[in-house]
Amino acid sequence: MPSWERIKEDFPIFHNLGSGYTYLDSAATSQKPLFVINAISDFYLYHNSNVHRGIYRLSEEATEMYDRSRENVSRFIGSRDPGQIVFVRNATEGLNLLSYTLGREMAQGDEILITIMEHHSNIVPWQFLQDRGIKLVYADIRPDGTLDMDDLQSKMSPRTRIVSVTHVSNVLGTVNPVREIGKMAHDNGSTFIVDGAQSVPHMPVDVEAMGCDFMAFSGHKMLGPTGIGVLYGRKELLERMHPFMGGGEMISEVYRDYSTWAEVPEKFEAGTPDIAGAIGLSAAVDYLRSMGMDNVMKHGRDLIRLTLEMEEEENIPGLVSYGPRDTEIRGPVYSFSIGDISPFSVNQTLSEDGIGVGASIHPHDVASSLDASGIAVRSGHHCAMPLTHRLNTVATTRASYYIYNTEEDVRKLFRSLKRTAEVYSR
Ligand code: PLP
Repeated sequence: MPSWERIKEDFPIFHNLGSGYTYLDSAATSQKPLFVINAISDFYLYHNSNVHRGIYRLSEEATEMYDRSRENVSRFIGSRDPGQIVFVRNATEGLNLLSYTLGREMAQGDEILITIMEHHSNIVPWQFLQDRGIKLVYADIRPDGTLDMDDLQSKMSPRTRIVSVTHVSNVLGTVNPVREIGKMAHDNGSTFIVDGAQSVPHMPVDVEAMGCDFMAFSGHKMLGPTGIGVLYGRKELLERMHPFMGGGEMISEVYRDYSTWAEVPEKFEAGTPDIAGAIGLSAAVDYLRSMGMDNVMKHGRDLIRLTLEMEEEENIPGLVSYGPRDTEIRGPVYSFSIGDISPFSVNQTLSEDGIGVGASIHPHDVASSLDASGIAVRSGHHCAMPLTHRLNTVATTRASYYIYNTEEDVRKLFRSLKRTAEVYSR
């Protein structure tokens, strides 16, 4: 088991910011260990050249490093063939690729089934298809923040061509039963897509066992650099699909009037790829693997369990949090609000007899107040506006944990929250 107290030492940013700095925004992006930073600079210092093009040693070296990174990422998510790993910029690009390519094969009246807890990147690309009469259908959540599986089942129809769901919600932390959903989707004859942006960094993920057709995720949320992400796709589907972007690398032959395509995955990697990014992501995978993804998941659950315990102990007036209480189905994300911050609320939350029982504090004010104590959290709609509205609010504050966070970080969060609530209720 890794020593969680010592892991911060591997991350230069914490030396630079000071050991008292508490970073609780890893769901937005994670910090990077020196191991990853070194892998990227090593590439630029000693191996930099373009891939798949040169007949000289340096280019062959870069190509080998790039291809090895693909193999490493493939193994990390349980894919049996590195040809199923398409390097993209991020999860968003992976999902846009799918909307463009799969959308070409869809007809008016076809349906795409998603959930109300999706990030905008698994909503907006599908909305683009509405112009062509393709319908976007939402499955709802239950009051405890879990996905309403009966609603999901009832919304599957013979016209449902795609079922696309997040593995872990970036607001609620809910871990969705993707195997079960995949089976339901396939029984219905639908293609099954998983948004793995918040799961791959935090838990063991095996695409073959999960039975998904596609999965998208981002390197920067799992200790890797920004600008590199992955779209996993079943080979036979990738082979059948039309390319996304055109240009160099993705072709076999180009004539004046038409072109033929390279094999997958190159067919989907037009132009010079983010070579250093892929190498950095592969280093991140090595680093995470060395900790054991079961341990990473357990650490996240321990921190969330402590968070929910502290919430009950501290009993901050007006604090409402969202997402399942069962830590077995909960990622390391804690979203909450203090008081009613709907547009019509007054500044004090009043009890029935009109006596103030606590302040209503806008999530941006909560975040600013925590920042003054050296705690970084996010506030707003977290790129999940339909979910925010479904929760009957306009914004929440979100603390999200990763391997470098400790129990002391959770305690510090609650000490600061308590102080903030006291100051605002004066
Ligand atoms: N999906 C989920 C669940 C996310 O949390 C995020 C980012 O926060 C994304 C997709 C999009 O990731 P990116 O901005 O790296 O493309």
